[in-house]
Parts: sequence; C-alpha cells; structure tokens
Amino acid sequence: MMTRTWIKDIVHNAGEMVSLSGWVFVRRDHGKIIFIDLRDKTGVAQLVFLGKDKELFLRASMLRSEWVISIVGEVNTRPDGMVNHDIETGNYEVLVKECVILNEAQTPPFEIETDGLSVGEEVRMAYRYLDLRRARLHQNIEARSDVMKRVRDFLSEELFTEVETPVLGKSTPEGARDYLVPSRIYPGNFYALPQSPQQYKQLLMVGGMERYYQFARCFRDEDTRGDRQPEFTQLDMEMSFVEQEDVMALNEKLLIHLVQTAYPDKKIQEIPFPRLSYKDAMERYRTDRPDLRRDKQDPNLLAFCWVVDFPFFETTDTGGWTFTHNPFSAPKPEYMDNLLAKRNIGTIITSQYDIVLNGWEIGGGSIRNHTPAALRSVFEIMGFSEKQIQENFGHMLAAFSYGAPPHGGIAWGMDRLMMILQNEPNIREVIAFPKTGDAKDLMMHAPSGVTSEQLKELSLEIKTQKK
Ligand code: ASP
Repeated sequence: MMTRTWIKDIVHNAGEMVSLSGWVFVRRDHGKIIFIDLRDKTGVAQLVFLGKDKELFLRASMLRSEWVISIVGEVNTRPDGMVNHDIETGNYEVLVKECVILNEAQTPPFEIETDGLSVGEEVRMAYRYLDLRRARLHQNIEARSDVMKRVRDFLSEELFTEVETPVLGKSTPEGARDYLVPSRIYPGNFYALPQSPQQYKQLLMVGGMERYYQFARCFRDEDTRGDRQPEFTQLDMEMSFVEQEDVMALNEKLLIHLVQTAYPDKKIQEIPFPRLSYKDAMERYRTDRPDLRRDKQDPNLLAFCWVVDFPFFETTDTGGWTFTHNPFSAPKPEYMDNLLAKRNIGTIITSQYDIVLNGWEIGGGSIRNHTPAALRSVFEIMGFSEKQIQENFGHMLAAFSYGAPPHGGIAWGMDRLMMILQNEPNIREVIAFPKTGDAKDLMMHAPSGVTSEQLKELSLEIKTQKK
C-alpha cells in the first residue's frame, strides 16, 4: 500500500505516482476518456481514466457522485489550455493506474457542488452529514477550528489555563430558563445544564487559577426565535487582579490579532475600538448594539465598538429591582458605596462592557463583586430572602469569605463571531450540528420520547403528552 497523499499536495508530485482517497465529486464521460473530480478534505483533483485498461475503465464508468474511492496514479502537468483556474490543483491531473471502490452512495437528496443556500433548510438539517460535504460548510467548520486554535495559542502565551467546568450543575435564578436533568439517585432532584460557566469561573479565581478560559457549551431553554440555539458556544474567560480596562485591552488585542492573522482581507474600521456609553448609544442609535459601519455594502468591513456604563438594575413589572446583565457584576468603583447602602439604586452604573460588531453583540463581561457584602447587597436589592440567598448562592458567599481576589472576565458568542467573520446569514451555518429554529434535531430526531422504564428509574411520570 502506498501512503496516502492529500489532494492539495499533488502540486509537489508532478511526474510521480501518488495514492489518493476521497469522494467522486463530478464525473464526465467522454466515451474513450473519463474524467473524475475527486474530493478530499483538502481540495479537488482531476483524475483521468483512459480506455486502454479495459477493467479499470469499466470500473470508472460505474462510478457515480459521492462514491468513495482510492486510486493510485501518476501526476501529470496539464497541457496549456486545459488548466482549470478554479481549483488549486488546476495545473495538474492524475492518470489513474489502479482504482478501488471503497463504498457506493445513493443519489444525495440535494446537490453538494452548490453553496446550498437555495436548498430547503429542513432537508439540509435532516441530511446534515451530506450538507457538511459542501465547500461552504466545510470552510466554515475549518475556519472555526482555525480561529479556536489561534485563540488557544494567544491565551496560552498570556498565561491562561484552559479549564473544563461541569455540565451537570445547579439550577439558580440567573436569567434564562434552565435545562434540567433529573437525578436517578436522588429522586425529585435535578441538575441544571449551565447557562454559562459564570459561577464556576469565579470559583476558579477563588481557587487561585488567576487566568482561565474555555470554549464552553451553554444551554438556555428560551422560547425559540430564528437565530437562537438551545445550546451555543462561548469563549469564556476570567482574570484575577484586573480592572475593567485590563480585560477590555486584552480582548481588543485578541480580536485584532484574530482578524489580522486569520482574515487578512478584512478591514477593521477603527482601532482602538470606539467606546460608547449605554446612554449615548441609546440616544444616538436607539440600540445598545449599534452598527457603526460606514459602508454597509462592504462584506469585509468590521466595525467593532465597546458599549459601557449600563445601569446595574432595572425595575421589574411588580415594582422590584432586577439586574440588567449579570448579578455577579460589581458596580463601577464610584458606585460601590451606594450598592452597599442599597441607596439610589436606579443610578448605580455597572462595570459591564459589551463588545459589538457590525450591529451584533458578540460578547460581554464585567468586573465582579468579590466581597461577600457586595454580592449579598445585589441579592438583597433584588428582594431575595435570606433563605433564598443561602440556598442559591450560599456557596459563592462562602467562597468569597476565604480570600477571593478581585476578578473580572468576559464571554464571547463564538457562533455569532464566526457567522460574521464568514459572512454567513445565520449561526446555523457555522455550527456542525445545529438545531432548527424550533429547537429540533431533524437528523437524530431529538427531542424524543423515552421508555416507561427510563421514566420509572428517574421516578418521573408524564402527565400531558404535548403533540
Ligand atoms: N457569563 C456571562 C454571560 O454568559 C459573561 C460574563 O460576564 O463573563 O453573559
């Protein structure tokens, strides 16, 4: 067996024999000569089958789109005039000497050569494994992996540690609705899937990690809207002994680095990123995520901005107070006295900073309260009883009483960021296996019913079956 050559590398093998494996992309039968475009993860190459070897030729005539084959052949330079400028291997073709059929394929339910944007999304989702074969999706997933690698390299240079936090956590009143997981061992008790690793990352700071990040899967059981996913990915980070400016500066540097290295064709409209207060943004643009692009027709223009100085609290329908962004945030230092005294609540400004790109909020974070007294004040302003505070957040208050360092962080919505960088219309195009807008997995058929034995084991009973 010859070692396999990646298709992109045949450009270095002119005149040599290579072994290639992949999928039949397109077949062109000219009677005495058959051309096959062979595709692997690195590219497409033209294979040539000549009629001289009858058995080989017969096999080539059987091949159909998406069949899986392995070949051995000679890399030849194409004659002038036959060069295909659309593909990277277009100066070469491979004269096939041996061909093994590894698997046949049914005719796919849609074309794979196109960008797929005109194919119905339901059928694309149901056959996502075929949809992923198209070049556009393939490039999106490759680009995502490339960006994640660059983030890891950058943050590890900055002394960050990648830490995984639990997916089975505790349900706490923090914003969105939790996804719950019933406990078999403790009937009637539930884990919650994390809406974000917020509490764990702060506890890592108490644990002395000082600089943490992870690509964290977050789960929010929110009512479905076109571009929401029940699970999505954050680049989540937290740093100790920092102030607002430190976190913002590091993130700005990382975003600029990513664009300049991974997307050199793109232009950042303004560096340093402009900053707007929430009040200015609302007065000037009537939104807290303004699209500052000077030319909205330009797909390669990136207008980042920071939005800061949000009110910490807003009133609830019932006349109480709730947080606007994150209950763990600290106020800006000049408002700490008011928070501790629970005074002038509506005027307290939080240390929250949101990062906005082309009209999308792509991330947000804050400096946190790191003393038990300040954190407790937030919950008291929100009207939580002592019992509620202890049950839901007692572990945080306890942790902060053992020498919690000042800390702050941020989380980016990776799916949104990749969507914008890849010029895609929605986040499903940059997620390998997304759910539909109404939270279904049409390929695996989730969510789905479970057996009565499973329910029994969990001490659960279904009262109404939703159709
Ligand atoms: N945990 C926050 C969120 O998910 C982000 C942060 O403040 O770091 O929005």
